Amino acid sequence: MTYDPENIFAKILRGEIPATRVYEDDETLAFMDIMPRADGHLLVIPKTPCRNTLDASPAQLEAVIRTVQKLAIASKAAFDADGVTIQQFNETAGGQEVFHLHFHVLPRLDGVALRPAGQMGDMEAIAKHGDMIRAAV
Ligand code: AMP
Repeated sequence: MTYDPENIFAKILRGEIPATRVYEDDETLAFMDIMPRADGHLLVIPKTPCRNTLDASPAQLEAVIRTVQKLAIASKAAFDADGVTIQQFNETAGGQEVFHLHFHVLPRLDGVALRPAGQMGDMEAIAKHGDMIRAAV
């Protein structure tokens, strides 16, 4: 499978479509998921192309997981969460819908289930949650 540079996260990286960015460094970008399954649900991606874990280089994976850890700690603090769920899907059969490597970071509260996938979030709430995470990084 080849990388499609017209995927939605490549467009976010190029600034062609908006995103609520919460963190970036030379190698990675983190932004809020627009269909959040928990308050504070964010995504971490490499700035260089790869579809998923199956074709990523060790350097891409290393950079992304460093940012995942940074954002997991920040989002747990920002939401006073009890835990954090980290998810990553590979190819359609593995549950992947956007084919640019990304890790989901979801702060979790004891006893609070994830919301169903595929429900558009409230953009004002997402912006506020992004501010909270940015302040905690
Ligand atoms: P998956 O590929 O299954 O890990 O899912 C892709 C994720 O990207 C879903 O959680 C979507 O809500 C999220 N998503 C899709 N388009 C956007 C976008 N433009 N901005 C932020 N998140 C998005």
